[in-house]
Amino acid sequence: MTVLLITLISVFPHQYEITCENRSIEVESERIEFQDYVPLKTIVEVLNVNYVLNNANQRLYLTGGGHKLVLMANINTVVYDGVYQNVPFAPLYISQEVYFPVNAITSTLGKSFEKLIFIKEIKEAPLIDKISIIARGDSSVVTFEWKTPIEFDVQFSQKRVIIEIDGRYKNKINSKAKSVKSIKLSTFETYTQIEFDVENVNSFFERPHEVVFYNKITEEVRLIVIDPGHGGIDPGAVGKKGLYEKDANLGIALELKKLIKDSLKIDVLLTREKDIYLSLRERTNIANRNSADLFVSVHCNAAAKNKSKSRGFETFFLSEAKTDEARAAAALENAALKFDGIVPTDEISFILHDLAQNVYLEESNSFAEHIQASAEKSLSIPSRGVSQAGFYVLHGAFMPAVLVECAFISHVDEENLLKQKQFRKKVAHSIFRGIQTYIKDYERRLNN
Ligand SMILES: [Zn+2]
Repeated sequence: MTVLLITLISVFPHQYEITCENRSIEVESERIEFQDYVPLKTIVEVLNVNYVLNNANQRLYLTGGGHKLVLMANINTVVYDGVYQNVPFAPLYISQEVYFPVNAITSTLGKSFEKLIFIKEIKEAPLIDKISIIARGDSSVVTFEWKTPIEFDVQFSQKRVIIEIDGRYKNKINSKAKSVKSIKLSTFETYTQIEFDVENVNSFFERPHEVVFYNKITEEVRLIVIDPGHGGIDPGAVGKKGLYEKDANLGIALELKKLIKDSLKIDVLLTREKDIYLSLRERTNIANRNSADLFVSVHCNAAAKNKSKSRGFETFFLSEAKTDEARAAAALENAALKFDGIVPTDEISFILHDLAQNVYLEESNSFAEHIQASAEKSLSIPSRGVSQAGFYVLHGAFMPAVLVECAFISHVDEENLLKQKQFRKKVAHSIFRGIQTYIKDYERRLNN
């Protein structure tokens, strides 16, 4: 029978400092089958023992202090002063070198030659491959590239930013952000510090690979992004009479676009103008990439079977759900994540970590109030008020952002209404009026 021995050598070696009688050496280990091995040849000098390797029989003869130790490659037995002894680890013979486990050096070699050996792992700070500062919309973004995530800390005031990263950096920093006036890079063995001056930074937020400094100074609303929910392979909720939510949403959004274009001096961008699929993430990204000032995601609600009488118009902003119904609405909309292979998990954690929407919490709430008030005034269906819940599509939006549930597709009367172009126009008009009054209010506050 042939035994095939596969030796795995890891790409990430560890560094050890081995000290004996005031001599010390730094040696790099090889990770072999979950153990750190070091070549014995490099450490015998520190131990002050003689090293003779017989490549023919793969035996290593170590002598010193009147003792003789013979190691045999791949065998758990040594010959110590002429006596055979078992040892917990066999030395390995690789490329004409004998390797020994780091954690067995003291017990085997130290004991044999009556020496005190100290072994310390040198924990080197991980390496940062690249740091760049780029402009993204109205923001400056510091991006990091590394093989495994490294922790960092941000301190910032309106004009000065200090980022301290627990890693080593050997390159320069590329900056393409106009708002960054100067950069001071300080590199140390265990950490890296970047210090730079910025103009008018209002807030920042962190992601695992970047820090975004938000320095938008909006005095007027220039662009609004309307997001017709669902599309393509994702029909959204489906009514009893076969109406797809994605079609109702698009119908309302197209009407809304027309109204804004015709009466407000604002650009409008729809995340989709056709029946195509877009991920939830991409919808917010479109708004962020285009530096949109407002974001409205258009949906229709569907109730669970035991709540089939639920009906009406409701406006949401992103925050922790307060009622089961709000939670259910968010769960229904977040279910679209499955088309991207994402299992929606912890609702709370992404809301709390969403510093982008946290900055706009008050504004998003106020935006929702305006839309809801308008719908309450002009629509014949009930007003369900403003609610908050963890809608993933609003996550990471850098602007006041709301999600409207125009009516219940699960309610037969409302499904019938949603099928009618006239009703869609009415809904679009009430959202439009809400946007209009909100903008007036928002701009007045921004310019005060
Ligand atoms: Zn929906």
